[in-house]
Amino acid sequence: MTHKKIPMEPDKKIALVAHDNRKRDLVEWAKFNRDLLAHHEVYATGTTGKILEEELGFGIEKLKSGPLGGDQQIGAKIVENEIDFLIFFWDPLEPQPHDPDVKALLRMAVVWNIPIACNRASADFMISSPLMDGKYNRLVPDYEGYISRKVDLGEEDAKEQV
Ligand code: PGA
Repeated sequence: MTHKKIPMEPDKKIALVAHDNRKRDLVEWAKFNRDLLAHHEVYATGTTGKILEEELGFGIEKLKSGPLGGDQQIGAKIVENEIDFLIFFWDPLEPQPHDPDVKALLRMAVVWNIPIACNRASADFMISSPLMDGKYNRLVPDYEGYISRKVDLGEEDAKEQV
């Protein structure tokens, strides 16, 4: 499969999301890495963003709360190339009302080859990577073949034409 290069600028567009039981973890991580985060463009789902803004003291682009569509908004921004980095502390021990949205967001991140960290250790490694502060060409599969595929519509049902 061929790939397309999508450039990521030195200042990244980072989305932060945490389920309620994981918010403390994300806040602690974000406070520890505040200076590294501050020069990036930070987005977050509603409640996560509100808490982070209070704790970090800089502006965050807040979307809807996750269960009210915020995860889907982030997914859409990934598709539109408006988010290029996802830190998503999802709760592995409790079902969520918006589990399908959680799965959809993780799926979009994989489809568009977005770096994802789902726990503190991964987030630590990612934020301290030398790649973080430079230009980086993200390789995304060229989906042209998929888009222009032939779709078999089957036989027309003659009776329905009458
Ligand atoms: P919240 O959403 O930041 O609004 O709590 C997080 C989520 O559950 O996706």
